[in-house]
Amino acid sequence: MRGALGGPRVLLRRLREVMAEPVSAQDRLDKIVVLIAANMVAEVCSVYVLRVDGTLELYATEGLKREAVHHTVMRQDEGLVGLVASEANPMNLSEAQSHPAFSYRPETGEEIYHSFLGVPILRAGNTLGVLVVQNRARRTYSEEEEEALQTTAMVVAEMIASGELLAIAQPGAEPAIRPRRHLNGIALADNIALGHVVLHEPRVTVKNVIADDVQKELQRLNEAVETMRNDLDAMLDRGELADGGEHRDVLEAYRMFANDQGWLHRLHEAVLTGLTAEAAVERVQSDTRARMLRSTDPYLRERLHDLDDLGNRLMRQLMGQDHAPSKEQLPENAILVARSMGPAALLDYDRKKLRGLVLEEGGPTSHVAIVARALGIAAVGEIANATGLVESGDAIIVDGTTGEVHVRPPQDIEIAYGERAKLRARRQAQYHALRDRPCVTKDGEAVALMINAGLLIDLPHIADTGAAGIGLFRTELQFMVAPSLPRIAEQLALYRAVLDAAGDKPVTFRTLDIGGDKVLPYMRTVEEENPALGWRAIRLGLDRPGLMRSQVRALLRAAAGRELKIMFPMVAAVNEFDEAKALVEGELTHLRRHRHKMPERVEIGTMVEVPSLLFQLDELIPRVDFLSIGSNDLVQFLYAVDRGNLRVANRFDPISAPILRALKIIIDKARAGGKPVTLCGELASSPAGALALVALGYRALSLTPSALGAIKAMLLDLDTKKAAAMLLPLIERPAKGVVIRERIEAFAAAEGLQL
Ligand code: PEP
Ligand code: MG
Repeated sequence: MRGALGGPRVLLRRLREVMAEPVSAQDRLDKIVVLIAANMVAEVCSVYVLRVDGTLELYATEGLKREAVHHTVMRQDEGLVGLVASEANPMNLSEAQSHPAFSYRPETGEEIYHSFLGVPILRAGNTLGVLVVQNRARRTYSEEEEEALQTTAMVVAEMIASGELLAIAQPGAEPAIRPRRHLNGIALADNIALGHVVLHEPRVTVKNVIADDVQKELQRLNEAVETMRNDLDAMLDRGELADGGEHRDVLEAYRMFANDQGWLHRLHEAVLTGLTAEAAVERVQSDTRARMLRSTDPYLRERLHDLDDLGNRLMRQLMGQDHAPSKEQLPENAILVARSMGPAALLDYDRKKLRGLVLEEGGPTSHVAIVARALGIAAVGEIANATGLVESGDAIIVDGTTGEVHVRPPQDIEIAYGERAKLRARRQAQYHALRDRPCVTKDGEAVALMINAGLLIDLPHIADTGAAGIGLFRTELQFMVAPSLPRIAEQLALYRAVLDAAGDKPVTFRTLDIGGDKVLPYMRTVEEENPALGWRAIRLGLDRPGLMRSQVRALLRAAAGRELKIMFPMVAAVNEFDEAKALVEGELTHLRRHRHKMPERVEIGTMVEVPSLLFQLDELIPRVDFLSIGSNDLVQFLYAVDRGNLRVANRFDPISAPILRALKIIIDKARAGGKPVTLCGELASSPAGALALVALGYRALSLTPSALGAIKAMLLDLDTKKAAAMLLPLIERPAKGVVIRERIEAFAAAEGLQL
């Protein structure tokens, strides 16, 4: 087999000269293919470019018939070139024509060539085209040749990405450099935002691809790897979190990869072909990304993600660039795009300019989603490769209602969304006008509408919405967004601020609900097979009372001279409530003994979210001051459906006979026992859910703040007696084929209520 002439380094040097020449785009491409063919001793070298319509067009060739240039166009599921593009994998064949995917294009005259080496032209994991060499002889290209062609493809990628080819493209069939994209993910925070992309971790664009001095580049690479390793070691030793708030195990994975010989070898190889250290990282990272996008194995994807992250770290090390974009200099209408993000990182951005968030990962219960909702921005998660598909400054629309994202949207979509955003703003203004009106139904029933909260940023919502108070204050959120365990003084300060903001409106604090899906990044967690059923919430609180005791102390002190309501999460048995209540009383005694100013009154209640409590209501109700129903968990446990697992989360409708019956039992028993009940799960935040709850007899709901206006507007026009007369028979005697939700919708339509 013949070796390459002068090797890849000579080729890269020549290519650099060609890139700098003041010639037309077509001339440059033509020169590039000639150089590659000569250097690789190939008879053919061709460049196929991926177009916005998804097809591949032959843009230049040495060796195939010239007439085929700009005429041969193929689909991505067609031929070997299509296969290389769609799989983003090199293909090395000594007898191309016997491959099942081979498709013969007579206009190219390629029937005389037998061997074929095709590599994808990649940038940030996206395929921009395919680079091919062919020979008459049946030969297998060596690994070095394959490597060299991939390196060369980077230079072609740079040329395509520069937009230079637009000048010679057919209108409507331009290279797919920055195509429009309509992406579908998962709605995380219900709002609509139009704005411009800000990458949370800006991609480092490598300007200098070709090395002047390979030895120097190797040294730079080695030094950067060494520094990165030391940084990771130091972070792990100090027990610190990474910048993005990553967990310790992620750091451990990074450290493992940073010492992975296979990865380091590939980086070295790439430099040896003549790339600069940063271009070598990009080369290897592009392959990693392409594999990640096509991998269906969740474990492998996770590892590839880690490897990609590590590539970013190394790149920043080499380019000396800072981690995050300048948070002070956000553009107006900024839309953050990130792989994943911790809640604290989101809070660092200027809220006045932040409109939306797009994540590659992150489900609705992720902490960052909770913060996004509290901030009132639009957010969408689970958009594969979001960070690879956008560029800083791109126009983007985030629809947090449907989970759609439009990147570089066409004008009609932009206009339509602009209208929807205006409509929403008008509605909000209407709801705002109802703010000070008491929530009393058409037939005179008062319904207390409160909000759910958990962070300082939630507090202005009390005044904005005119809520009757905070029905659920999730104290764990402060713990979840903090970089380390909040000290008692910090807890005290937050609780005081909450009570101050609420003024004379009631606030119900829930003690720490951690464990399960609510993970504290700085706390070592125990591996559990079923964390939702595991050591969490009150179980953890009672087994390790230190944390709960200090929290209760902070609550009692914050409420000095005021009224305090405390409740416990995930109580499953009456004795757990007794123990937790005894703990609070113990703290009260302690404070009294130390002559602290006491709360004026302390009420102690419990969440009802574990189904076992349904069968202990007779014992429970006399013991508590109030109940609060967590429908999110109650539905999860009644239907045995993981609330965070998107495959099953929407399998059963909470507005259905079994759930509504359970809720009816609770309200009836609590009323008979003279104890107030609030419902604070998501069910209350949907108009149909709120309607059903009020029909069942609920008169206190605690909602997501953004849902309050619409629900109040609906309740003001509702006749609760009519609603009860419609709903109760459906629950008591469900008829075959009757869908309760549909009946509620029909009722609302007939009554002129907006759901
Ligand atoms: C619930 O389970 O419904 C609830 C309100 O608590 P959380 O969503 O915080 O688990
Ligand atoms: Mg719960």
